[in-house]
Amino acid sequence: MSKGFLLVLSGPSGSGKGTVSQALMERRNDIIFSTSITTRQPRPNEVDGENYFFKTKEEFEKMVENDELLEYAYVHTNYYGTPKEFVFNEIEKGEIVLLEIDVQGALQIKKKYKKAVFIFLLPPTMEELKKRIVNRGTETEADINTRFSNAFKELDFVGEYDYFVVNDRVEQAVKDIENIIAAERLRVKRHDDIKKNLIEEGEIR
Ligand code: 5GP
Repeated sequence: MSKGFLLVLSGPSGSGKGTVSQALMERRNDIIFSTSITTRQPRPNEVDGENYFFKTKEEFEKMVENDELLEYAYVHTNYYGTPKEFVFNEIEKGEIVLLEIDVQGALQIKKKYKKAVFIFLLPPTMEELKKRIVNRGTETEADINTRFSNAFKELDFVGEYDYFVVNDRVEQAVKDIENIIAAERLRVKRHDDIKKNLIEEGEIR
């Protein structure tokens, strides 16, 4: 029954994508996080190879040239991209691969992969969003303003997504995502011929 697929999670800076994905991964072992590549500077608590693969602009551009990225985008003055080979290998193994990416990247994936699932994470209010970005304390004031104004632009794209989840309480947001995954696993189009499998093979694959 286990078929791999791409689970795309987007949402403005401060919506809590990182926290929610981490909590989700702690509860499930059938979800693999795709570590992105970025040219942004690491934050003090970030580890290379865990949060991101931190690269120079030249290294990143080389990867684009070599077609090593599934999608990439220029977000808040830095490049971010998804490594292609890793994602394909994991999907092939039947895993759900979680991509925590911005709307531009999500739109690129949507064009190429019809079976990907798209979730937009929302803050409970815009005031709360601003508060979370400021309280994180890792960005300069200019960065905070860029991220907050980008949030308004990103919200224009919520209609391109399959589902929205409100991150008021992390636990509830994680439960909502788990419900989405459960429903997606039962989508008829994700399975080969159900009748044939049940009758001839004796089980639904
Ligand atoms: P941050 O700098 O806060 O870690 O991330 C900034 C934005 O870049 C977030 O919206 C995050 O989802 C997005 N992002 C992270 N990795 C990728 C990626 O591989 N591709 C794209 N398109 N966006 C990404």
